[in-house]
Order: sequence, then structure tokens, then C-alpha cells
Amino acid sequence: MTDYPTNSVLVLVDVSPSGQLHSSAAEVIGAAAAVGTAVVLAVTAPGTSALLGAELAALGAAHVLVAESAQCARAVVSPVVDALAAAAATVGPEAVLVSNSIRGRDAAARFAARSGSALAVDAVGVSRDEEGVIAHHSVYGGAYSVDSAASTGALVITLRQGSSSVRAAAQDATVQVLEVAASGAPDAVVSSYQETAVESSRPELRGADVVVSGGRGVGSGENFALVEGLADALGGAVGASRAAVDAGYVPQSFQVGQTGVTVAPQLYIALGISGAIQHRAGMQTAKTIIAINKDPDAPIFEIADFGVVGDLFTVVPQLVAAIEAKRG
Ligand code: FAD
Repeated sequence: MTDYPTNSVLVLVDVSPSGQLHSSAAEVIGAAAAVGTAVVLAVTAPGTSALLGAELAALGAAHVLVAESAQCARAVVSPVVDALAAAAATVGPEAVLVSNSIRGRDAAARFAARSGSALAVDAVGVSRDEEGVIAHHSVYGGAYSVDSAASTGALVITLRQGSSSVRAAAQDATVQVLEVAASGAPDAVVSSYQETAVESSRPELRGADVVVSGGRGVGSGENFALVEGLADALGGAVGASRAAVDAGYVPQSFQVGQTGVTVAPQLYIALGISGAIQHRAGMQTAKTIIAINKDPDAPIFEIADFGVVGDLFTVVPQLVAAIEAKRG
């Protein structure tokens, strides 16, 4: 029976139905290890856990708990919540850290409700003071930074993807198989699913280090090749404003903002985007923001670190050529 340290932070990582670890794992483990001992829980289908222990130790897990569940590919979230409850009872963590993915935040909210814990959603960082773990948030479209902490019990935190660049050193982790009693809690059930092969060589928008987004100013779906060209030159993902999505230039999955994806890349480049508050809500925590817009009064320039007042059809090809020339 393992004795878990009092500063244990229980980390739930996202695992696909076929047992693939999601790329957000390195980030949540790194954030947990920076404030305590990372005890990492993976819930996976039977027969897929063999490699997970080693993968998680390489990402900095001090201890690994694996719960194998035949139900986890069918029931949407209850097997994960059941495993979180069993893991929390075993570990007695100081805090629980989960990626703010769709499944992660669903599991975190259900676990917090079930255990009567405080819930801090969409944190952009974690730290600790003498009283325990603190979650940091960027709210009202990035206009305010606020902190939250639990007055009692373990704080359950969901961490915005791409918000933390802290990574943990590899550990020599213990791996424990966790016995989980199914609660039978009501849940949506997946009747069938198909994993789609991602054909794009670009990184996923959520969690990308570089995002290049286009707005209404790009003018058409065909013109989006310009946005893609700059993204490819920088090895980045492609995003869009809602106006560009509504105009049919790109699919809705590209939308950045309040009603789209929230991104926190190292570099965000906005092309022909005015910078409405709803767009800013999804990208304002980017480390460096560059805006190219022909209107010098566009609100995007208020939050840009670097701005180019100019026609994107003139500026972007020159930028791509300069990047490629530098690469040789
Ligand atoms: P515009 O505001 O029309 O701006 C286009 C910009 O392109 C202008 O600044 C113009 O100067 C510039 N431009 C034009 N031609 C060129 C050129 N050749 N070269 C350089 N610059 C050029 N929006 C989102 O993005 N994400 C959301 O999630 C979102 N959610 C919303 C939710 C609600 C409830 C509501 C009410 C709105 C939401 N919106 C969202 C919409 C938001 O309010 C804006 O309408 C939208 O962001 C505007 O997109 P845009 O900047 O591309 O277009």
C-alpha cells in the first residue's frame, strides 16, 4: 500500500478510447509537479494500460494510478468520475487538476458535486501559498486576473489548454492498478464511435504554440490560403473569427472566442480581425499577440504586442517570404 505525500496533487489525464494519451497530459502533469507531488490517474479500456505507466512517468508523474474500465468507451463520463472518487479516497490529495477539455471539465464538475469540493474552472495557472494550492484565472475577456482557493477540502481545478509551459522532469514512478466500484450514476451512452484520422499536418488549435487566425477582412474561403500559408511557415494552427466562420470561409471548429475555442499560445497572429470582446475572450492570454489590420483604430491593436497597419494581402506574402528566406 503506497503512502502518498500530503502535498499530492491528483491529476486526471485525457485518454482516447483506444488508449492514446492526449497532448494536454504534459501540461497538467507539469503544472501539478510545480506545486506538489503529481499523482496521475489514467482511465482506460482494458488491455490498453501497459504503455501508459511509462509514458506518464516520462512526463513527470511521481505515482501512476490506472483504472481499466470496459465501460469507459461507452458511458460518456461516469467511469471517469467513479475512478476519480476512488483515486481521491486512496490518495487524499491537496488538490485535483484536470485539463479544461470537454470531457475533463465534465468529469471535474461531476466529481466536485459528488465530493462536495470547491471547483475552479478554466484556470490559466496554479501556484501555492502557505495555505495550499491556488488557481489563477483570466476573466471578462482577459480584462481581470483573479485567484481562487478552497476554504476547505481539495480544490478541483480545470486548466486551460496551452496556458502553462511548465514541464516536469521524468520520474521513476510507481504504477498501481486502481479497483473502481461502478456507481451506476446516470450518464449519456455512446452507441458507436469512429476515430477519424487527422489528415492535417498542422497542430491542433487547442493547445497549439502558434495560432494564425483570419477574420472577415480575409474576404473569402479561397483567400484563407494566405492564413494557412503563414500558419504553415510558422508550424502553427489555423483559427478564425466568428464573422469568418459565419461567412462560410472555414468550418466552425476553427472559431476562436467566447462561443468557440479558447487558445493560449505563445504566439497569436490576427489577420483582418477587428478584436471584438467576444473574440478577445478566446485569445487574450496568448503570450505574444501580433495584429495586421488596415484600420489603425481597430480594437485589436489595444491588446497587440506588435501591430502592422496595412493590407493583409500585401503584408502576409512578404512575411511568409521573409520567414522562408530566413529558414534558407
Ligand atoms: P469585423 O469586425 O468585420 O472586422 C474585420 C476587420 O478586418 C476590420 O477591423 C477591418 O479593418 C479588417 N480588414 C478588412 N480588410 C482588410 C485587409 N485587406 N487587410 C487588413 N485588414 C482588413 N466572435 C468571435 O470571433 N468569436 C466568438 O466566439 C464570438 N462569439 C460571439 C458571441 C456572441 C453572443 C456575440 C453577440 C458575438 C460573438 N462574436 C464572436 C462576434 C463578434 O462580436 C464579432 O462580430 C466578430 O468577432 C467580428 O469578426 P471580425 O473581426 O473577423 O470581423
